[in-house]
Order: sequence, then C-alpha cells, then structure tokens
Amino acid sequence: MAAINPGKNPEEVVSQLRNTFNSGRTKPVEYRIQQLKELHRLLDENSSEIWQAMKQDLGKSKQEAFVLEIDFMRFEIQRYLQNLSDWVKPEKVPRDLLNMMDKAYIIREPYGVALIIGAWNYPIQVVLGPMIGAIAAGNCVLIKPSELSPATAKILEDLLPKYLDSDAYKVFNGGIPETSELLKQRFDYIFYTGSSAVGKIVHAAAAKYLTPTTLELGGKSPVYLDSSANIEVAARRILWGKVVNSGQTCIAPDYVMCTKQVEEKFLSASRKVLKEFFGENPQASPDYARIVNERHFDRIQGLLEKCTVAIGGDSDRKDKYISPTILTGVSPENRVMQEEIFGPVLPIINVDNAYEAIAVINKMEKPLAMYLFSENQKIIDEILTNTSAGGVCINDTILHASPFTLPFGGVGNSGMGAYHGKSTFETFSHRKSVLHKDMGALGEKLGSIRYPPYSDRKLNL
Ligand code: NAD
Repeated sequence: MAAINPGKNPEEVVSQLRNTFNSGRTKPVEYRIQQLKELHRLLDENSSEIWQAMKQDLGKSKQEAFVLEIDFMRFEIQRYLQNLSDWVKPEKVPRDLLNMMDKAYIIREPYGVALIIGAWNYPIQVVLGPMIGAIAAGNCVLIKPSELSPATAKILEDLLPKYLDSDAYKVFNGGIPETSELLKQRFDYIFYTGSSAVGKIVHAAAAKYLTPTTLELGGKSPVYLDSSANIEVAARRILWGKVVNSGQTCIAPDYVMCTKQVEEKFLSASRKVLKEFFGENPQASPDYARIVNERHFDRIQGLLEKCTVAIGGDSDRKDKYISPTILTGVSPENRVMQEEIFGPVLPIINVDNAYEAIAVINKMEKPLAMYLFSENQKIIDEILTNTSAGGVCINDTILHASPFTLPFGGVGNSGMGAYHGKSTFETFSHRKSVLHKDMGALGEKLGSIRYPPYSDRKLNL
C-alpha cells in the first residue's frame, strides 16, 4: 500500500516551504553543507533498512542496492562537500572595453521551492540525487517518491524529518491523485523522473506558472554491435546492462543491432555469460531482481509475441520473475520495438552495416542512451555524427551515468535538462548576471556615448 498523507494539504505544505525559503534560512552555504552532512549521516545510519525497503519493493540485491543507490548517493554528497564552497562563489566573467572599469559576474541563486517527483526503479537515487543538488543550491524541497515502490517511499518519509530540517525539506507520498493535486501548486522548479507520457503532463502543469522543469524520461536505448568488437566482452557488458535491476533501468540497453554472423557469436557468448552471472537458474539467484508488479510483468510478457526466443523465456507470475531473455528474428515493426521494454528482454535486429543501424535509430524517438561496441573509430564517428541521444557509452553500457563530470539527461522524447555531479547544482541554481558599474569620472566618460545628443561621431565609435 502506498503511504498516503493523512491531513497533508498540498497547498499548506507548499506554503510552509515557501515561508521557510522566504525567511532566508536555506541560503547560507554553511546551512546547506550541514544539511548535506545530515543526509549523509541518514544514509550511513540506515543503509541496511533502506536496502531492505528496496528489497521488498523490487527484490534488489545487496550489491545493486549499495553500489547503484546508497553508496552512489554517499559519494555524490562527499564530492559536494568537497566542492560546494567553490561553486557558490560569484563567477567572474571577462569584460569588454566599455566595461573595463566595472565588475561583471554571475551569482548562482536558488530558485525557491523545488518539487522532485521520482520513479520506482531506482527509488533512492532518482529522489535523493536531485535533492542533493537542490539543497546545495539553497532551495527548499518537496519530494514525491513513487507509489510503486511503497516501502522505500515510506522509509524516506520516516527518515528525512529525523535528520533534515523539516521546515525546509518535506516528503509528500501518494499516487496519481496526490501528484495531480501537487502539480496544481506553484513551484519554482520541477524535477521529474519517469515515463515520457507523464513527463508531458508534468510539463503542461509547469507551463501554467512558467516553472522551469527538468524531465528525466526514458526511451529505447539502442546498441550497435560491430564485428570489430570483442564479442565476449561486449556480451558481458551488454547483458550486465540488461539484467541489472531485471532490466528496469532507464538506460538499460533496449535492443541490439548486428549482422547475422555477429548475432551467432553474441548468442553463444551470452549463454556462457548468463551462466557465469546467475548459474543454471536465475530465479534461484539472490542477485537477480524481480519485476515491480503484475501489471509490468504482463506488459513485458505481451512484448514477446511473434518473436523467436533464442535464450531464456521463462517466467513465474506469482514471483514476478522473468528470466534474462534474448529474442531473434525481430524487425522494427514487432511490438517489442514499439515501446521501451523496461524488463530483462533483449531483442536482436539484424542489420548489414552501421548505416542501416543509423537508419533504424533515426526512425525512432531520440533515445536516452546509445551504446556502440566497435574498435573501428570511423564507424564510431559516423554513428556519433549522424544520430542523436541523451548520452553515449562506447564499448560499455550504463557507466556513462557515473562520472561526476558528465551531465546525465535525455534529449527530445527522452527528456530535457541534465543532472549528476555539478550539473545538479547548476540545474537548481538560477544564473543571475550582475554588472556592477563604476561611478568614477573615467567610467562615466566611457559610458557617455550612450547619452543624447546623438551624433554620427558617436555612432561610428
Ligand atoms: P512511475 O509510474 O513511478 O511514475 C513516476 C512518477 O510520476 C511517480 O512519482 C508517479 O506518482 C507519478 N505519476 C504517474 N502517473 C502520473 C500522472 N498521470 N500524473 C501525475 N503524476 C503521475 O514511474 P514510471 O513512469 O513507470 O517510470 C518508468 C519510466 O521512468 C521509464 O520510462 C524509465 O526509463 C524512466 N526513468 C528515467 C530515468 C532517468 O533518469 N531519465 C530514471 C528512472 C526511470
């Protein structure tokens, strides 16, 4: 059951947060740093309970829960603590001749009250990741975790007020009706993670108040597997990207494109790799997650129709288990190619070369991620130049989301805006340009050409 908010009125909650923001309490950098330290302490002291909540929601293994969620957030906070004092400093910018006596700089100011709406698949990362940047930038924050990961939503609601300033940071739990009510309120920033369909609803709601928005959405992230690649290494890296969290990862490789010859080698390597990962029976492995609910289980099963199952294809609805599955004989017209799979199913489309792969990619919506496995730089350059994607990882999957210095986000249907590392701080900061004019005689002389009476001499200066 989703945790609902007894007695919580969205209007009142937002108004409390706005009062706190207007008091200026969240602005001093020392306060932001102290709150980030508290968030770190929350993760330190409750990591095991948080993992248990994710295990309850998704069957997440300990390693995935720590590496991809809890520790990922801890490292993010640590790097914020190392850098924030520098990032908040006014940024001096070059001046031109007319402004040589003046000061020109950019101040990062908080927007105000930020709403963060999360998805269920990485229920800690997609909520706390943006929140770290929002706190660091000096905003008040309301987080709305997904109701489809209710245990994690509940633990966030219970823990956050014990560590953070609850006048400035709040959790609002609930499903579609509650989120719809929230979206009627006026926020100063909205950060949404979830499907493209709901992203459009969020964007439309934000338009009412011209609220700036980041949309972290999904899509079908393609893989091009070239004959020049080491197929065994590629199989291990592609399959890891596909089976982690049972394929319920926004940047999971969605489908593979390769020649028929490469497909044969890939299938044989995949059989070996899957055995290495999970033994004979992935259902018995503690490392293999489950599908979030029956609705998604049925949806994924429905995608298999009219395809040949080359590997896997086993399932158990009661256990919400679908084995790692590879499909062959797939064409772009098949149902499995019409929507983001978001499950452990990997279709292979045969193409004769990279140009055909480019044509397939360009017929679809712009993906969140694109994966190229090749040792041929010409082919890599050709695909990079002639396609568009939120981000690209060459010769691996998923890992482009981890460097602190790489912004993470989509393009077109896969989203707008980006975060991770310093980008999250930038996302939640308004860049306020300041020109501080000199009032001395020289400054006034330099600026005097703007005053009437106008003349050709002034115009030609
Ligand atoms: P979801 O169903 O949990 O929805 C996300 C959020 O939107 C939830 O908090 C939910 O309450 C809210 N919501 C759902 N329907 C709504 C409506 N009609 N009106 C208002 N709010 C509503 O998650 P999902 O959408 O199933 O998430 C899966 C999608 O998220 C996939 O497409 C995946 O690729 C994408 N995703 C993207 C990222 C990223 O970083 N780009 C990360 C994780 C997931």
